[in-house]
Amino acid sequence: MDQPKSVKVLTFYPEKCTGCKDCEKACSNVHFKTKDGGEQSALRIIKKGKRYDMHVCDQRGLCLDICPVGALTRRKNGVVWLDTKICIGCQACVGFCPIGAMRTSKVRIEPFKCISCGACVRACPEQALELVEKKVASISQVVYHKQGVSPS
Ligand code: SF4
Ligand code: SF4
Repeated sequence: MDQPKSVKVLTFYPEKCTGCKDCEKACSNVHFKTKDGGEQSALRIIKKGKRYDMHVCDQRGLCLDICPVGALTRRKNGVVWLDTKICIGCQACVGFCPIGAMRTSKVRIEPFKCISCGACVRACPEQALELVEKKVASISQVVYHKQGVSPS
């Protein structure tokens, strides 16, 4: 399959955020049908002094080759996708992600991550979140190659 050329990456404008966490609630609703937010959300709003920071997958795809069963792929829309039907819950991607953006939950063995669905963007009353289109070539990085597979 041809590499997707672009991907929407969740982007945060801290000067606009009030810390209401409506974005987290919208995210947990997408992934687990609960508005609890927090650990059930792929994005997290973190208080930093008087401001807030946002932590989420940047869609670089460093984890793509670490999965032993091929459950992680870059979809046509460029998003790094975890297929729960293929995943065996080994947690290798969770330990490997250098920014800690592959999340675990108490309700299932398979991890989860941001899928750039935009639910948080729509939920934010302050327009503090945006899905920004980026070139895959400009963000993707490979730090690990499966044995016998040459970098392309
Ligand atoms: S919904 Fe918007 S304002 Fe509220 S915490 Fe999330 S980013 Fe900040
Ligand atoms: S937890 Fe699932 S997606 Fe992650 S590396 Fe293991 S099998 Fe692959």
